[in-house]
Amino acid sequence: MFGRCKKYLRKINILKSLKARLFFIILLAGIIPSTVTRLAILQNYEDRAVNVRIADVQNQFKILANHLITYGYLHDTSSEIINTELEQLSNLYDGRVIIVDQNFKVVKDTYALSEGKTVISEEVIRCFKGNSTTNYDRKNGYIEITTPIGNLTSNVKGGTQQDGTSGLVDGVMLTSVSTDTITTTLEILNRKALIVEFIIFIFMVAIAFAMSHFLTIPFERVTQAINAVKAGFTDEEISVNDYVETEHIVDAFNQLLGRMKVLDDSRQEFVANVSHELKTPLTSMKVLADSLMMQEEVPVELYKEFMTDIANEIERESKIINDLLSIVKMDKKAADMDVTSMDINELLELILKRLRPIARQKNVEVIYESIRQVTAEVDEVKLTLALSNLVENAIKYNEPQGWVRVRLDADHQFFTVEISDSGMGIPEEEQEHIYERFYRVDKSHSREIGGTGLGLAITRSAVLMHRGSIKVMSEEGKGTTFTVKIPLIHPV
Ligand code: ADP
Repeated sequence: MFGRCKKYLRKINILKSLKARLFFIILLAGIIPSTVTRLAILQNYEDRAVNVRIADVQNQFKILANHLITYGYLHDTSSEIINTELEQLSNLYDGRVIIVDQNFKVVKDTYALSEGKTVISEEVIRCFKGNSTTNYDRKNGYIEITTPIGNLTSNVKGGTQQDGTSGLVDGVMLTSVSTDTITTTLEILNRKALIVEFIIFIFMVAIAFAMSHFLTIPFERVTQAINAVKAGFTDEEISVNDYVETEHIVDAFNQLLGRMKVLDDSRQEFVANVSHELKTPLTSMKVLADSLMMQEEVPVELYKEFMTDIANEIERESKIINDLLSIVKMDKKAADMDVTSMDINELLELILKRLRPIARQKNVEVIYESIRQVTAEVDEVKLTLALSNLVENAIKYNEPQGWVRVRLDADHQFFTVEISDSGMGIPEEEQEHIYERFYRVDKSHSREIGGTGLGLAITRSAVLMHRGSIKVMSEEGKGTTFTVKIPLIHPV
């Protein structure tokens, strides 16, 4: 049972192989025409040989039929000349001749078996009407020919039926001649053709094997090249230009390689940035601690001041770590989304309630405009994080006495949250970079304010996980508007 399964699986694999398919196609393309040609030639020869034999026999027997009339053989079968002639012909064609008179009675049978008997058959009746008939019995290896005896006015051709003048037919000659010689020749021809065909078969197996091997070499080269990249021997782009198909595969692979390189570079850059960002607060703390230790009898006020600085650095460090953890969470796939139907107005009010104290500290007014009631399928934690970052930035990068306006609207498909501020704005050339991890606009003094450069990266990931979009419009010195658009129903 197990063995049979294994055999079956191996069979499927062979059929799946391009090399095997090419092998069989080339082999069949070579063998089928040679077999068809052999059969066609043999058939042709057989038809022709049988026709020649029929024409030959008919001619001979037509002459004999005339002699029969001349010698009145139908009434008296004792004519020595005719009997010898009959004997000779039946020997020549290895056959039997039966002569039937007008009363359907057999007057002569060269086998001497049916003399005196009556023969009524379709062929005989037709022959009495003047139509010579022929019938080739391939299975038993003989040809049956009927020849009318008498003075016919119309021509009678072998194998075809024509109307004759029935009144002038005095008798019928039934002849069966052996086709053994034709069959033997056919067999010899067939044997020779089979030998030629076998040689062609061997030749085609060799050609099919070689061609299927050479034609699939480029595909093996593609596999080898990909394996070399996989094993890490090279990270150069690969090139196998033998076929358009291999070119397509290789192009797709090179694009994938390029994408992986970009991902790898960005991962390395990210690790470098993370290390740098985490190191900065640690360096500051070390400097602060060292300077305290190097001094003797440090006043308590200085201790307090330095310790406050150290505590601030620790807070910064933990903020960066928190943001990094959020980023890692966002990097997971959409399957991790915890989607529930939420009242977005409530969600925004809660966010603003949490952030108002910070706004108050900075003397920034926060305005909330809700155009309509919105309920949507969202991941509460992720969306809260995204929108909080935007509102927090709008407060952080604002002017004293400035304002932040949050506006909620929706259509039948999406809801839109617009967060505008009267802050410093983002220079146009920097706008495309602000979503990159650790990117900060220099002029904004983000680091001093306590920014990590990760906020917008987190926001963008969260919005994309909701299959939404985020856009920024900003003018330096005037303010910034971020527009977040998210589907009301979360697409699965
Ligand atoms: P950060 O932690 O520095 O705020 P973000 O990723 O949130 O990091 O923002 C990236 C940079 O984009 C910020 O450093 C800031 O320079 C700029 N930025 C973000 N939001 C605003 C805004 N509302 N107004 C002006 N600049 C902004």
